Amino acid sequence: MLDKFQAIVIGGGPGGYVCAIRLAQLGLKTACIESRGSLGGTCLNVGCIPSKSLLNLSDEFHKVQHLSNKGIEIGEVKLNLAKMMQSKDKAVTVLTKGVEFLLKKNKVTYFKGIGSFKSKNEISIKDEKDNETLIFGDKIVIATGSVPVSLPGIEFDEKTIVSSTGVLKLDQVPKKMVVVGGGYIGLEMGSVWSRLGTEVEVVEFLDHITPGMDKEISSEFMKVLKKQGIKFYMQHKVEKIKKDKSEAIVSTKDMNGTSKDFKTDVVLISVGRKPNTKGLDLEKVGVELDDKKRVKTNKSFQTNLDNVYAIGDVITGPMLAHKAEDEGVAVAEIIAGQSGHVNYDTIPGVIYTSPEVACIGKTEEQLKEKNIKYKIGKFSFMANSRAKAIDDVEGFVKILADEKTDKVLGAHLIGPHAGELIAEIGIAMEFGASSEDIARTCHAHPTFSEAVKEAALSVDKRAIHS
Ligand code: FAD
Ligand code: NAD
Repeated sequence: MLDKFQAIVIGGGPGGYVCAIRLAQLGLKTACIESRGSLGGTCLNVGCIPSKSLLNLSDEFHKVQHLSNKGIEIGEVKLNLAKMMQSKDKAVTVLTKGVEFLLKKNKVTYFKGIGSFKSKNEISIKDEKDNETLIFGDKIVIATGSVPVSLPGIEFDEKTIVSSTGVLKLDQVPKKMVVVGGGYIGLEMGSVWSRLGTEVEVVEFLDHITPGMDKEISSEFMKVLKKQGIKFYMQHKVEKIKKDKSEAIVSTKDMNGTSKDFKTDVVLISVGRKPNTKGLDLEKVGVELDDKKRVKTNKSFQTNLDNVYAIGDVITGPMLAHKAEDEGVAVAEIIAGQSGHVNYDTIPGVIYTSPEVACIGKTEEQLKEKNIKYKIGKFSFMANSRAKAIDDVEGFVKILADEKTDKVLGAHLIGPHAGELIAEIGIAMEFGASSEDIARTCHAHPTFSEAVKEAALSVDKRAIHS
Protein backbone atom coordinates (compact mmCIF):
# COMPACT_ATOMS: atom_id res chain seq x y z
CA MET A 1 0.00 0.00 0.00
CA LEU A 2 1.33 3.43 -0.98
CA ASP A 3 1.41 6.11 1.67
CA LYS A 4 -1.09 8.69 0.36
CA PHE A 5 -0.86 12.47 0.73
CA GLN A 6 -3.10 15.27 -0.42
CA ALA A 7 0.03 17.25 -1.28
CA ILE A 8 3.70 16.42 -1.78
CA VAL A 9 6.32 19.18 -1.90
CA ILE A 10 9.66 18.27 -3.52
CA GLY A 11 12.39 20.47 -2.03
CA GLY A 12 12.74 21.77 1.52
CA GLY A 13 14.06 25.28 0.80
CA PRO A 14 12.28 28.55 1.71
CA GLY A 15 9.79 27.91 -1.10
CA GLY A 16 9.19 24.24 -0.29
CA TYR A 17 9.13 24.16 3.49
CA VAL A 18 6.97 27.29 3.76
CA CYS A 19 4.57 25.81 1.20
CA ALA A 20 4.40 22.51 3.14
CA ILE A 21 3.66 24.30 6.42
CA ARG A 22 0.93 26.44 4.83
CA LEU A 23 -0.63 23.36 3.18
CA ALA A 24 -0.69 21.60 6.55
CA GLN A 25 -2.15 24.71 8.23
CA LEU A 26 -4.94 24.58 5.65
CA GLY A 27 -5.70 20.99 6.67
CA LEU A 28 -4.03 19.00 3.89
CA LYS A 29 -2.09 15.83 4.66
CA THR A 30 1.32 16.95 3.41
CA ALA A 31 4.78 15.47 2.75
CA CYS A 32 8.00 17.37 2.12
CA ILE A 33 10.98 15.67 0.46
CA GLU A 34 14.51 17.05 0.80
CA SER A 35 17.67 15.45 -0.59
CA ARG A 36 20.30 17.60 1.14
CA GLY A 37 20.06 15.94 4.55
CA SER A 38 19.01 19.17 6.20
CA LEU A 39 16.07 21.49 5.60
CA GLY A 40 16.15 25.18 4.60
CA GLY A 41 17.50 24.77 1.06
CA THR A 42 20.17 26.92 -0.51
CA CYS A 43 19.08 29.85 1.64
CA LEU A 44 19.70 28.38 5.08
CA ASN A 45 22.50 25.96 4.22
CA VAL A 46 24.73 27.66 1.64
CA GLY A 47 23.11 31.00 0.83
CA CYS A 48 21.36 33.81 2.69
CA ILE A 49 22.12 32.72 6.23
CA PRO A 50 25.82 31.73 6.12
CA SER A 51 26.59 34.70 3.87
CA LYS A 52 24.79 37.13 6.20
CA SER A 53 26.55 35.61 9.18
CA LEU A 54 29.95 36.19 7.54
CA LEU A 55 28.92 39.65 6.34
CA ASN A 56 28.03 40.61 9.89
CA LEU A 57 31.12 39.06 11.50
CA SER A 58 33.53 40.53 8.96
CA ASP A 59 31.84 43.93 9.35
CA GLU A 60 32.31 43.75 13.11
CA PHE A 61 35.95 42.74 12.62
CA HIS A 62 36.45 45.69 10.30
CA LYS A 63 34.60 48.21 12.49
CA VAL A 64 36.27 47.21 15.73
CA GLN A 65 39.63 48.10 14.17
CA HIS A 66 38.45 51.66 13.60
CA LEU A 67 36.92 52.33 17.01
CA SER A 68 39.92 54.26 18.28
CA ASN A 69 38.83 57.11 15.94
CA LYS A 70 35.72 57.29 18.11
CA GLY A 71 37.49 57.24 21.45
CA ILE A 72 37.33 53.53 22.18
CA GLU A 73 40.81 52.12 22.65
CA ILE A 74 41.27 48.39 22.43
CA GLY A 75 44.34 46.24 22.05
CA GLU A 76 45.43 44.39 18.97
CA VAL A 77 42.49 42.87 17.06
CA LYS A 78 43.16 39.40 15.71
CA LEU A 79 41.14 37.23 13.39
CA ASN A 80 40.35 33.64 14.32
CA LEU A 81 38.89 32.44 11.04
CA ALA A 82 38.13 28.92 12.27
CA LYS A 83 36.04 30.31 15.13
CA MET A 84 34.30 32.75 12.80
CA MET A 85 33.38 29.83 10.53
CA GLN A 86 32.11 27.87 13.57
CA SER A 87 29.91 30.77 14.52
CA LYS A 88 28.47 30.85 10.97
CA ASP A 89 27.95 27.05 11.02
CA LYS A 90 26.16 27.29 14.36
CA ALA A 91 23.70 29.81 12.94
CA VAL A 92 23.02 27.44 10.04
CA THR A 93 22.50 24.40 12.30
CA VAL A 94 20.17 26.22 14.68
CA LEU A 95 18.02 27.48 11.84
CA THR A 96 17.88 24.25 9.82
CA LYS A 97 16.96 22.29 12.96
CA GLY A 98 14.34 24.95 13.64
CA VAL A 99 12.73 24.26 10.27
CA GLU A 100 12.67 20.52 11.05
CA PHE A 101 10.87 21.36 14.31
CA LEU A 102 8.36 23.53 12.43
CA LEU A 103 7.55 20.71 9.99
CA LYS A 104 7.00 18.33 12.90
CA LYS A 105 4.90 20.86 14.79
CA ASN A 106 2.68 21.31 11.75
CA LYS A 107 2.46 17.54 11.16
CA VAL A 108 4.21 17.61 7.80
CA THR A 109 5.83 14.24 7.02
CA TYR A 110 9.48 14.85 6.19
CA PHE A 111 11.21 12.40 3.82
CA LYS A 112 15.00 12.56 3.44
CA GLY A 113 16.05 11.60 -0.07
CA ILE A 114 15.87 12.45 -3.76
CA GLY A 115 12.36 12.81 -5.08
CA SER A 116 11.52 11.89 -8.67
CA PHE A 117 8.36 11.39 -10.71
CA LYS A 118 7.22 7.82 -11.41
CA SER A 119 3.89 9.09 -12.71
CA LYS A 120 2.03 12.38 -12.32
CA ASN A 121 0.82 11.28 -8.86
CA GLU A 122 3.57 8.89 -7.74
CA ILE A 123 6.84 10.13 -6.33
CA SER A 124 9.83 7.90 -5.68
CA ILE A 125 12.17 8.82 -2.83
CA LYS A 126 15.67 7.36 -2.87
CA ASP A 127 17.65 7.73 0.35
CA GLU A 128 21.44 7.75 0.79
CA LYS A 129 21.57 3.96 0.77
CA ASP A 130 19.53 3.80 -2.43
CA ASN A 131 16.46 2.44 -0.61
CA GLU A 132 13.34 3.46 -2.51
CA THR A 133 10.00 4.55 -1.05
CA LEU A 134 7.03 5.30 -3.26
CA ILE A 135 4.36 7.77 -2.16
CA PHE A 136 1.16 9.03 -3.76
CA GLY A 137 0.10 12.69 -3.94
CA ASP A 138 -3.05 14.32 -5.25
CA LYS A 139 -1.11 17.52 -5.82
CA ILE A 140 2.65 17.84 -6.30
CA VAL A 141 4.67 21.04 -5.84
CA ILE A 142 8.15 21.25 -7.40
CA ALA A 143 10.36 23.51 -5.26
CA THR A 144 13.81 22.24 -6.16
CA GLY A 145 15.50 25.65 -6.38
CA SER A 146 18.64 26.52 -8.27
CA VAL A 147 22.38 25.80 -8.42
CA PRO A 148 25.40 27.97 -9.31
CA VAL A 149 26.56 28.16 -12.92
CA SER A 150 30.18 28.26 -13.99
CA LEU A 151 31.78 29.60 -17.15
CA PRO A 152 31.96 27.32 -20.18
CA GLY A 153 34.68 24.67 -19.73
CA ILE A 154 35.53 25.74 -16.17
CA GLU A 155 34.75 23.48 -13.23
CA PHE A 156 34.50 24.41 -9.58
CA ASP A 157 37.06 22.64 -7.38
CA GLU A 158 35.74 24.66 -4.39
CA LYS A 159 39.31 25.44 -3.29
CA THR A 160 40.92 27.59 -5.99
CA ILE A 161 37.98 28.00 -8.36
CA VAL A 162 35.01 28.38 -6.07
CA SER A 163 31.26 28.86 -6.34
CA SER A 164 29.15 30.64 -3.71
CA THR A 165 29.30 27.40 -1.70
CA GLY A 166 33.11 27.15 -1.58
CA VAL A 167 33.62 30.85 -0.88
CA LEU A 168 31.62 30.46 2.35
CA LYS A 169 34.08 27.97 3.80
CA LEU A 170 37.61 28.93 2.83
CA ASP A 171 39.96 27.78 5.60
CA GLN A 172 42.35 30.69 5.28
CA VAL A 173 42.17 34.29 4.17
CA PRO A 174 43.43 34.38 0.57
CA LYS A 175 45.91 37.09 -0.33
CA LYS A 176 44.10 37.70 -3.60
CA MET A 177 40.66 36.89 -4.92
CA VAL A 178 39.29 37.49 -8.40
CA VAL A 179 35.52 37.73 -8.42
CA VAL A 180 33.97 37.04 -11.81
CA GLY A 181 30.58 38.81 -11.90
CA GLY A 182 29.64 42.00 -10.04
CA GLY A 183 26.18 40.89 -8.87
CA TYR A 184 24.67 39.99 -5.51
CA ILE A 185 27.01 37.13 -4.61
CA GLY A 186 30.21 38.64 -5.99
CA LEU A 187 29.76 41.93 -4.12
CA GLU A 188 28.56 40.42 -0.83
CA MET A 189 31.25 37.76 -0.68
CA GLY A 190 33.88 40.09 -2.15
CA SER A 191 33.08 42.48 0.73
CA VAL A 192 33.43 39.70 3.32
CA TRP A 193 36.90 38.66 2.20
CA SER A 194 38.04 42.21 1.52
CA ARG A 195 37.21 43.15 5.14
CA LEU A 196 39.16 40.12 6.35
CA GLY A 197 42.24 41.27 4.43
CA THR A 198 41.99 39.83 0.91
CA GLU A 199 42.82 41.98 -2.11
CA VAL A 200 39.61 41.68 -4.14
CA GLU A 201 39.35 42.36 -7.88
CA VAL A 202 35.96 42.19 -9.60
CA VAL A 203 35.84 41.34 -13.28
CA GLU A 204 32.47 42.27 -14.77
CA PHE A 205 31.18 41.73 -18.27
CA LEU A 206 28.94 44.83 -18.36
CA ASP A 207 29.77 48.53 -17.86
CA HIS A 208 27.95 48.61 -14.50
CA ILE A 209 27.53 46.35 -11.48
CA THR A 210 24.24 44.86 -10.19
CA PRO A 211 22.40 44.82 -13.53
CA GLY A 212 18.71 45.62 -13.30
CA MET A 213 19.20 47.94 -10.34
CA ASP A 214 18.55 51.70 -10.62
CA LYS A 215 21.68 53.02 -12.39
CA GLU A 216 22.20 55.95 -9.98
CA ILE A 217 22.30 53.55 -7.03
CA SER A 218 24.49 51.09 -8.90
CA SER A 219 27.11 53.74 -9.70
CA GLU A 220 27.05 55.14 -6.14
CA PHE A 221 27.41 51.57 -4.85
CA MET A 222 30.48 51.00 -7.02
CA LYS A 223 32.04 54.26 -5.78
CA VAL A 224 31.51 53.18 -2.16
CA LEU A 225 32.99 49.72 -2.76
CA LYS A 226 35.99 51.23 -4.54
CA LYS A 227 36.60 53.46 -1.52
CA GLN A 228 36.60 50.29 0.58
CA GLY A 229 39.46 48.96 -1.54
CA ILE A 230 37.70 46.64 -3.99
CA LYS A 231 39.01 47.02 -7.54
CA PHE A 232 36.73 46.83 -10.57
CA TYR A 233 37.51 45.79 -14.14
CA MET A 234 34.39 46.58 -16.14
CA GLN A 235 33.54 45.34 -19.63
CA HIS A 236 36.04 42.53 -19.22
CA LYS A 237 35.30 39.06 -20.51
CA VAL A 238 36.97 36.03 -18.97
CA GLU A 239 38.57 34.00 -21.76
CA LYS A 240 40.05 31.21 -19.70
CA ILE A 241 41.20 30.26 -16.21
CA LYS A 242 44.36 28.23 -15.81
CA LYS A 243 45.08 26.49 -12.53
CA ASP A 244 48.68 26.32 -11.45
CA LYS A 245 49.29 24.48 -8.13
CA SER A 246 47.33 26.48 -5.58
CA GLU A 247 47.04 29.56 -7.80
CA ALA A 248 45.03 30.49 -10.83
CA ILE A 249 45.54 32.77 -13.79
CA VAL A 250 42.40 34.43 -15.06
CA SER A 251 42.82 35.63 -18.65
CA THR A 252 40.47 38.39 -19.73
CA LYS A 253 39.87 40.68 -22.70
CA ASP A 254 38.26 44.11 -22.46
CA MET A 255 35.89 45.63 -25.03
CA ASN A 256 38.83 47.04 -27.05
CA GLY A 257 40.37 43.60 -27.32
CA THR A 258 43.14 44.33 -24.79
CA SER A 259 44.18 41.25 -22.82
CA LYS A 260 44.83 41.25 -19.09
CA ASP A 261 45.84 38.35 -16.87
CA PHE A 262 45.06 38.21 -13.15
CA LYS A 263 47.18 35.96 -10.96
CA THR A 264 45.21 35.01 -7.89
CA ASP A 265 44.83 32.53 -5.02
CA VAL A 266 41.08 32.13 -5.37
CA VAL A 267 38.61 32.77 -8.18
CA LEU A 268 34.97 33.19 -7.20
CA ILE A 269 32.68 32.61 -10.15
CA SER A 270 29.40 34.39 -9.42
CA VAL A 271 27.80 34.86 -12.81
CA GLY A 272 24.32 33.66 -11.86
CA ARG A 273 22.40 30.50 -10.98
CA LYS A 274 20.39 28.00 -13.01
CA PRO A 275 17.13 26.21 -12.17
CA ASN A 276 17.61 22.78 -10.64
CA THR A 277 15.49 20.05 -12.19
CA LYS A 278 18.19 17.36 -12.12
CA GLY A 279 17.00 13.93 -11.04
CA LEU A 280 13.28 14.80 -11.03
CA ASP A 281 12.56 12.76 -14.18
CA LEU A 282 10.26 15.51 -15.44
CA GLU A 283 10.55 14.19 -19.00
CA LYS A 284 9.01 10.89 -17.85
CA VAL A 285 5.73 12.65 -17.05
CA GLY A 286 6.05 15.44 -19.63
CA VAL A 287 6.38 18.53 -17.39
CA GLU A 288 7.33 21.34 -19.76
CA LEU A 289 10.34 23.65 -19.30
CA ASP A 290 10.74 27.14 -20.79
CA ASP A 291 13.60 28.41 -22.98
CA LYS A 292 15.80 28.95 -19.90
CA LYS A 293 15.13 25.40 -18.59
CA ARG A 294 12.89 26.71 -15.81
CA VAL A 295 9.70 24.80 -15.02
CA LYS A 296 6.98 26.52 -17.05
CA THR A 297 3.98 27.64 -15.00
CA ASN A 298 0.86 29.75 -15.44
CA LYS A 299 -0.22 32.57 -13.08
CA SER A 300 -1.48 29.96 -10.59
CA PHE A 301 1.94 28.24 -10.50
CA GLN A 302 0.43 25.28 -12.35
CA THR A 303 2.54 23.40 -14.89
CA ASN A 304 1.12 21.84 -18.03
CA LEU A 305 0.01 18.91 -15.81
CA ASP A 306 -3.10 19.93 -13.87
CA ASN A 307 -1.99 18.47 -10.51
CA VAL A 308 1.66 19.58 -10.68
CA TYR A 309 2.77 23.06 -9.55
CA ALA A 310 6.16 24.78 -9.22
CA ILE A 311 7.52 27.72 -7.21
CA GLY A 312 10.72 29.53 -6.22
CA ASP A 313 14.06 29.61 -8.04
CA VAL A 314 13.04 26.75 -10.34
CA ILE A 315 10.47 29.00 -12.08
CA THR A 316 10.67 32.46 -13.63
CA GLY A 317 11.30 35.63 -11.56
CA PRO A 318 13.96 36.92 -9.20
CA MET A 319 15.92 34.22 -7.39
CA LEU A 320 15.17 35.45 -3.87
CA ALA A 321 14.17 33.58 -0.73
CA HIS A 322 11.24 35.85 0.13
CA LYS A 323 9.87 35.53 -3.43
CA ALA A 324 10.04 31.73 -3.07
CA GLU A 325 8.34 31.90 0.36
CA ASP A 326 5.51 34.10 -0.88
CA GLU A 327 4.97 31.79 -3.85
CA GLY A 328 4.95 28.84 -1.42
CA VAL A 329 2.12 30.40 0.57
CA ALA A 330 0.23 31.46 -2.56
CA VAL A 331 0.37 28.03 -4.21
CA ALA A 332 -0.70 26.29 -0.98
CA GLU A 333 -3.72 28.58 -0.78
CA ILE A 334 -4.55 27.99 -4.45
CA ILE A 335 -4.32 24.20 -3.93
CA ALA A 336 -6.64 24.54 -0.93
CA GLY A 337 -9.19 26.37 -3.08
CA GLN A 338 -8.36 29.89 -1.92
CA SER A 339 -7.08 32.77 -4.05
CA GLY A 340 -3.34 32.89 -3.30
CA HIS A 341 -1.52 35.76 -4.95
CA VAL A 342 1.96 37.32 -5.19
CA ASN A 343 2.45 40.99 -6.07
CA TYR A 344 5.61 40.96 -8.17
CA ASP A 345 5.68 44.79 -8.25
CA THR A 346 6.57 44.97 -4.57
CA ILE A 347 9.29 42.36 -4.10
CA PRO A 348 12.24 44.07 -2.43
CA GLY A 349 15.86 43.28 -3.27
CA VAL A 350 18.57 43.85 -0.66
CA ILE A 351 22.35 43.59 -0.87
CA TYR A 352 23.75 43.17 2.62
CA THR A 353 27.02 45.02 2.15
CA SER A 354 28.01 47.97 4.29
CA PRO A 355 26.26 50.25 3.54
CA GLU A 356 23.30 48.13 2.49
CA VAL A 357 21.57 48.56 -0.85
CA ALA A 358 17.81 48.05 -1.18
CA CYS A 359 15.32 48.51 -3.95
CA ILE A 360 11.65 48.00 -4.68
CA GLY A 361 9.37 48.71 -7.63
CA LYS A 362 10.39 50.49 -10.79
CA THR A 363 13.80 51.99 -11.53
CA GLU A 364 14.18 55.31 -13.37
CA GLU A 365 15.33 53.40 -16.43
CA GLN A 366 12.19 51.24 -16.43
CA LEU A 367 9.90 54.27 -16.03
CA LYS A 368 11.62 56.03 -18.94
CA GLU A 369 11.32 52.93 -21.09
CA LYS A 370 7.60 52.71 -20.32
CA ASN A 371 7.12 56.43 -20.92
CA ILE A 372 5.72 56.95 -17.43
CA LYS A 373 6.18 60.51 -16.17
CA TYR A 374 7.61 60.61 -12.68
CA LYS A 375 8.92 62.87 -9.91
CA ILE A 376 12.02 62.16 -7.85
CA GLY A 377 12.53 62.76 -4.15
CA LYS A 378 16.00 62.30 -2.73
CA PHE A 379 17.52 62.66 0.70
CA SER A 380 21.09 62.06 1.77
CA PHE A 381 22.00 60.26 5.00
CA MET A 382 24.57 63.05 5.41
CA ALA A 383 21.65 65.23 6.61
CA ASN A 384 20.01 62.56 8.77
CA SER A 385 20.58 63.22 12.47
CA ARG A 386 20.82 59.55 13.54
CA ALA A 387 23.33 58.81 10.78
CA LYS A 388 25.33 61.90 11.79
CA ALA A 389 25.20 60.94 15.47
CA ILE A 390 26.81 57.59 14.80
CA ASP A 391 28.95 58.72 11.87
CA ASP A 392 27.37 56.38 9.32
CA VAL A 393 26.42 58.90 6.67
CA GLU A 394 27.11 57.25 3.35
CA GLY A 395 24.23 56.95 0.87
CA PHE A 396 20.79 58.31 0.16
CA VAL A 397 17.11 57.46 -0.24
CA LYS A 398 15.47 57.97 -3.62
CA ILE A 399 11.72 57.76 -4.10
CA LEU A 400 10.04 57.74 -7.50
CA ALA A 401 6.40 58.83 -7.65
CA ASP A 402 3.91 59.25 -10.49
CA GLU A 403 4.02 62.83 -11.80
CA LYS A 404 0.23 63.22 -11.78
CA THR A 405 -1.11 60.97 -9.02
CA ASP A 406 1.94 61.03 -6.71
CA LYS A 407 1.58 57.24 -6.26
CA VAL A 408 4.88 55.68 -5.17
CA LEU A 409 6.27 53.68 -8.10
CA GLY A 410 9.64 52.67 -6.72
CA ALA A 411 12.30 53.35 -4.12
CA HIS A 412 16.04 52.83 -4.19
CA LEU A 413 18.26 53.16 -1.15
CA ILE A 414 21.90 52.90 -0.30
CA GLY A 415 22.78 53.51 3.31
CA PRO A 416 22.62 52.26 6.89
CA HIS A 417 19.88 49.64 7.47
CA ALA A 418 18.53 50.17 3.95
CA GLY A 419 17.34 46.53 3.99
CA GLU A 420 15.06 47.30 6.95
CA LEU A 421 13.95 50.73 5.72
CA ILE A 422 12.66 49.30 2.43
CA ALA A 423 9.88 47.43 4.30
CA GLU A 424 8.09 50.70 5.06
CA ILE A 425 8.02 51.57 1.37
CA GLY A 426 6.84 48.04 0.54
CA ILE A 427 3.81 48.45 2.78
CA ALA A 428 3.15 51.92 1.37
CA MET A 429 3.24 50.53 -2.17
CA GLU A 430 0.97 47.58 -1.26
CA PHE A 431 -1.60 50.10 -0.03
CA GLY A 432 -1.19 52.24 -3.15
CA ALA A 433 0.20 55.13 -1.07
CA SER A 434 1.34 58.46 -2.47
CA SER A 435 4.67 60.01 -1.51
CA GLU A 436 2.61 62.55 0.46
CA ASP A 437 1.19 59.67 2.56
CA ILE A 438 4.72 58.72 3.60
CA ALA A 439 5.70 62.36 4.09
CA ARG A 440 2.74 63.01 6.40
CA THR A 441 3.39 59.91 8.52
CA CYS A 442 5.09 60.73 11.81
CA HIS A 443 8.55 59.06 11.95
CA ALA A 444 10.40 58.73 15.26
CA HIS A 445 13.37 61.01 15.87
CA PRO A 446 16.26 60.39 15.64
CA THR A 447 15.93 57.41 13.26
CA PHE A 448 17.28 56.47 9.85
CA SER A 449 13.65 56.19 8.75
CA GLU A 450 13.41 59.98 8.85
CA ALA A 451 15.52 59.90 5.68
CA VAL A 452 12.64 58.04 4.01
CA LYS A 453 10.18 60.68 5.20
CA GLU A 454 12.46 63.48 3.99
CA ALA A 455 12.90 61.81 0.59
CA ALA A 456 9.09 61.61 0.36
CA LEU A 457 8.86 65.31 1.28
CA SER A 458 11.49 66.04 -1.33
CA VAL A 459 9.27 64.55 -4.07
CA ASP A 460 7.26 67.75 -3.61
CA LYS A 461 10.41 69.85 -3.04
CA ARG A 462 9.66 70.47 0.61
CA ALA A 463 12.25 68.47 2.52
CA ILE A 464 12.99 70.26 5.79
CA HIS A 465 16.58 69.23 6.47
CA SER A 466 18.22 69.75 3.09
P1 FAD B 1 16.37 26.24 -2.67
O1 FAD B 1 16.56 27.10 -1.50
O2 FAD B 1 17.43 26.10 -3.66
O3 FAD B 1 15.81 24.87 -2.15
C1 FAD B 1 15.57 23.79 -2.98
C2 FAD B 1 15.85 22.52 -2.21
O4 FAD B 1 15.40 21.42 -2.98
C3 FAD B 1 17.33 22.27 -1.95
O5 FAD B 1 17.59 22.13 -0.59
C4 FAD B 1 17.64 20.99 -2.72
O6 FAD B 1 18.55 20.15 -2.01
C5 FAD B 1 16.28 20.34 -2.79
N1 FAD B 1 16.12 19.43 -3.93
C6 FAD B 1 16.49 19.64 -5.21
N2 FAD B 1 16.15 18.59 -5.99
C7 FAD B 1 15.55 17.70 -5.16
C8 FAD B 1 14.97 16.43 -5.35
N3 FAD B 1 14.91 15.88 -6.57
N4 FAD B 1 14.46 15.78 -4.29
C9 FAD B 1 14.47 16.35 -3.05
N5 FAD B 1 15.01 17.55 -2.80
C10 FAD B 1 15.52 18.22 -3.85
N6 FAD B 1 18.02 35.33 -1.30
C11 FAD B 1 17.51 36.31 -0.52
O7 FAD B 1 16.31 36.59 -0.61
N7 FAD B 1 18.28 36.97 0.40
C12 FAD B 1 19.60 36.70 0.54
O8 FAD B 1 20.26 37.33 1.36
C13 FAD B 1 20.17 35.70 -0.28
N8 FAD B 1 21.47 35.40 -0.17
C14 FAD B 1 22.01 34.40 -0.92
C15 FAD B 1 23.36 34.12 -0.80
C16 FAD B 1 23.93 33.12 -1.55
C17 FAD B 1 25.40 32.82 -1.40
C18 FAD B 1 23.12 32.36 -2.44
C19 FAD B 1 23.71 31.24 -3.24
C20 FAD B 1 21.77 32.63 -2.59
C21 FAD B 1 21.20 33.67 -1.83
N9 FAD B 1 19.86 34.00 -1.95
C22 FAD B 1 19.34 35.01 -1.19
C23 FAD B 1 18.96 33.30 -2.89
C24 FAD B 1 18.11 32.25 -2.12
O9 FAD B 1 18.97 31.36 -1.46
C25 FAD B 1 17.21 31.50 -3.08
O10 FAD B 1 16.46 32.42 -3.85
C26 FAD B 1 16.25 30.62 -2.32
O11 FAD B 1 16.95 29.69 -1.53
C27 FAD B 1 15.33 29.87 -3.28
O12 FAD B 1 14.47 29.06 -2.56
P2 FAD B 1 13.85 27.72 -3.19
O13 FAD B 1 13.05 27.10 -2.11
O14 FAD B 1 13.21 28.03 -4.48
O15 FAD B 1 15.10 26.81 -3.55
P1 NAD C 1 23.74 37.99 -10.40
O1 NAD C 1 22.80 37.75 -11.53
O2 NAD C 1 23.31 38.80 -9.27
O3 NAD C 1 25.08 38.65 -10.96
C1 NAD C 1 25.83 38.06 -11.96
C2 NAD C 1 26.79 39.10 -12.51
O4 NAD C 1 27.72 38.43 -13.34
C3 NAD C 1 26.12 40.16 -13.38
O5 NAD C 1 26.62 41.42 -13.02
C4 NAD C 1 26.52 39.78 -14.80
O6 NAD C 1 26.60 40.87 -15.68
C5 NAD C 1 27.89 39.17 -14.54
N1 NAD C 1 28.34 38.21 -15.56
C6 NAD C 1 27.61 37.26 -16.18
N2 NAD C 1 28.40 36.55 -17.01
C7 NAD C 1 29.65 37.05 -16.87
C8 NAD C 1 30.92 36.73 -17.44
N3 NAD C 1 31.05 35.73 -18.32
N4 NAD C 1 31.99 37.45 -17.07
C9 NAD C 1 31.88 38.48 -16.17
N5 NAD C 1 30.70 38.82 -15.60
C10 NAD C 1 29.61 38.11 -15.94
O7 NAD C 1 24.20 36.51 -9.98
P2 NAD C 1 24.93 36.00 -8.65
O8 NAD C 1 25.68 37.09 -8.00
O9 NAD C 1 25.62 34.75 -9.07
O10 NAD C 1 23.71 35.61 -7.73
C11 NAD C 1 22.70 34.70 -8.17
C12 NAD C 1 21.38 35.06 -7.58
O11 NAD C 1 21.34 34.72 -6.21
C13 NAD C 1 21.11 36.56 -7.61
O12 NAD C 1 20.56 36.98 -8.82
C14 NAD C 1 20.13 36.73 -6.50
O13 NAD C 1 18.84 36.48 -7.02
C15 NAD C 1 20.51 35.63 -5.52
N6 NAD C 1 21.23 36.22 -4.37
C16 NAD C 1 20.58 37.16 -3.61
C17 NAD C 1 21.23 37.74 -2.55
C18 NAD C 1 20.50 38.75 -1.73
O14 NAD C 1 19.28 38.82 -1.84
N7 NAD C 1 21.18 39.52 -0.89
C19 NAD C 1 22.54 37.40 -2.25
C20 NAD C 1 23.18 36.47 -3.04
C21 NAD C 1 22.50 35.88 -4.10
